[in-house]
Amino acid sequence: MASINRNYLKLQGSYLFSKIGRKIREYEAAHPDKKVIRLGIGDVTQPLVPAVIEALHSAVDEMAHKETFRGYAPDLGYSFLRETIAEKDFKARGCDIDADEIFVSDGAKSDCGNIQEIFGTDNTIAVCDPVYPVYVDSNVMAGRTGEYDPALDCFKNVIYMPCTGENAFTPALPSETPDLIYLCFPNNPTGAVMSRDKLQKWVDYANEHGSVILYDAAYEAFITEEGIPHSIYECEGAKTCAIEFRSFSKTAGFTGLRLGFTVVPADLKVDGVALRDLWARRHGTKFNGAPYIVQRAGEAVYSDEGRKQVKEQIAWYLGNAKIILNGLKTAGIEACGGVNAPYIWLKTPKEMTSWEFFDHLLEHANVAGTPGSGFGPHGEHYFRLTAFGEREATKEAVRRIGLL
Ligand code: PLP
Repeated sequence: MASINRNYLKLQGSYLFSKIGRKIREYEAAHPDKKVIRLGIGDVTQPLVPAVIEALHSAVDEMAHKETFRGYAPDLGYSFLRETIAEKDFKARGCDIDADEIFVSDGAKSDCGNIQEIFGTDNTIAVCDPVYPVYVDSNVMAGRTGEYDPALDCFKNVIYMPCTGENAFTPALPSETPDLIYLCFPNNPTGAVMSRDKLQKWVDYANEHGSVILYDAAYEAFITEEGIPHSIYECEGAKTCAIEFRSFSKTAGFTGLRLGFTVVPADLKVDGVALRDLWARRHGTKFNGAPYIVQRAGEAVYSDEGRKQVKEQIAWYLGNAKIILNGLKTAGIEACGGVNAPYIWLKTPKEMTSWEFFDHLLEHANVAGTPGSGFGPHGEHYFRLTAFGEREATKEAVRRIGLL
């Protein structure tokens, strides 16, 4: 008789966005004259830039002719894309990463979720708190996290690293040594970044303790300030202790198109085994390659025109972030993020819980965001707004918050 993977029954929290959606629908049904502005969305709203559209059209045309038609893509990615990434994202920044250390995929979510498969089920994991939920959930499914403790809203075998205002939302090195350390900078949900010096300390720690850092740099393109590393490989020694995830989703609006990649350096070994070989095996066994037309679109992001257009789009989103940040500050609400990331993380006023503030904002300003407690216990009393809305709606939301 079949049985199920009972670890799935331990999963928590997937109700967050459905609960938000339900509350907004209920409010709108009860108040048909009111229009709720959604600043909780983590999805882009602007269309693909012209250079990408052009590359898509031309790749589609290639598919229409016998001579240029492509079938299965190479599982690890076309070399035209892997080489472009190695050159423009890494070598141009002084990081010695080669094309054969880059694995193209359908996005960072799959890779962040799947990477744990190449590690032993007895490995301990450390995550920031608050955190992008995929890291914990994928380890729950694999049976690595132990039982859930509802009183603490934590899994017993997970090391949670508090990220609060006191540490500028960047975690301190843990006292108990984890085997796998998930770091995400620029951060979702807090919008915080980690300086190169601080990240170097993590790299040194990982090398010293034999830990592996799983570094999610999905929001790297939003970095505007100097001294903030775009890649963990800007730190000395990172090639022997870190895997990095990248995404075209927020960088170039590919949330619907789907493209990302993971860097597993050749020098990264655990128990004498190269993780690159294990990941190549896993990828080749379970993934049949990102579509040719999408990889051509990804390549176009690195052309001179593509780069310029994508940069402008990101600057436009960051313009929204600035409007939100300034508006909140004027309204006397403590907030951070939004400078090197599309997320603004605010402290709820008057000691309101995250959900109390959600209801307050919905009812009195008709604005929806994301309660910080949905990202982990240390997200309580915080709230996330995003810069992905339309400009006029963003301005209107900020005006309404100012009237509260
Ligand atoms: N990593 C982080 C921190 C994210 O916030 C997201 C998307 O919201 C992803 C990864 C997933 O990116 P992708 O669309 O490439 O799967």
